[in-house]
Amino acid sequence: MVRISKPINDKLIAICEKGFPNEVCGILIGNKKNARYEVENFHECQNMNTERSVDRYELNPKDYIQGEKIAKDLGSSIIGIYHSHPNHPAIASETDKLYAWPEMVYMIYSIYDYKYKELISWEINEKQDIFQEMKTDIYE
Ligand SMILES: [Zn+2]
Repeated sequence: MVRISKPINDKLIAICEKGFPNEVCGILIGNKKNARYEVENFHECQNMNTERSVDRYELNPKDYIQGEKIAKDLGSSIIGIYHSHPNHPAIASETDKLYAWPEMVYMIYSIYDYKYKELISWEINEKQDIFQEMKTDIYE
C-alpha cells in the first residue's frame, strides 16, 4: 500500500497537468515500512528525453542526486518515482516495467487534455516477475 496526503497528491496532479502534453517525472521521498510506502515529500526532476517526451521519461541524474540529498536531510529516503501519462491510461508500459527497480513504488498519473483522470501505483513483484498494482490511500 502507498499512503500519500491529499495536499501532496494535489501538488503532484497540478505538476502533471502543467507539464501536459509532455511526460513529467520526479522522485518520491518518504519511508517504507514493510510493504507500506509513506510518501512525505517529492522532488521534481527534469525529463531528459526530449525526442519522445510525450511517452517516455528519463530522470535527470543531477536532479536525482539533489533529491537524495533532500531526502537525507529529512531523515527519509527515496521510495519511488512518479511520472505522468499524457493522453494514456495510468497503466505501466513495458518500458516502465523494464526500467523499474524493486522495492520502489511507481505512481503514474494519467492526464487527458490537461486534466487529471486517474492515479495507479505500481510495484515490481520479484518472485512473479510482474509489475503489480498497489492500493493508494490518499488521506486528508
Ligand atoms: Zn510510463
